[in-house]
Amino acid sequence: MTMPRYDVMVGPTSRCVRREDGCLEWAGAPNNQGYGVLGYEGRKWLAHRLTWVLARGPIPTGMYVCHSCDNPLCCEIAHLFLGTQADNMRDAATKGRTSNSRKTHCKHGHEFTPENTRFYRRRRGNNPLERVCLACKRDAHAREKRAA
Ligand SMILES: [Zn+2]
Ligand SMILES: [Zn+2]
Repeated sequence: MTMPRYDVMVGPTSRCVRREDGCLEWAGAPNNQGYGVLGYEGRKWLAHRLTWVLARGPIPTGMYVCHSCDNPLCCEIAHLFLGTQADNMRDAATKGRTSNSRKTHCKHGHEFTPENTRFYRRRRGNNPLERVCLACKRDAHAREKRAA
């Protein structure tokens, strides 16, 4: 017995919600790069990559699954396309992944490294994810403690 390999209902899309703009958005928590993650057949997957594999088949080595809608949480197969890393970067840079994606540092001058960055889901607005500087969060927390 083999699983119906291309049955998207068993994959990430079963855990996504349809947005008004057509995106099928991952409903779980985003990872620190703003992507959905899940376990599938004993492996950890990025949700949009697994969506691609289940719907279209294996991703060629060195290729990336990119978003035409620019929503990193989106698992709508019609919004996904294969590209190289250069495509992926150029794509993200030209579209502006979030409103402040062109900035490499937060307003207090901390660099947005993967370690210093968390994404939070927004309830409203066009940008589904909000980028947060962890150093600033820590500072704010410390200030609160002092104030208390
Ligand atoms: Zn989309
Ligand atoms: Zn900061």
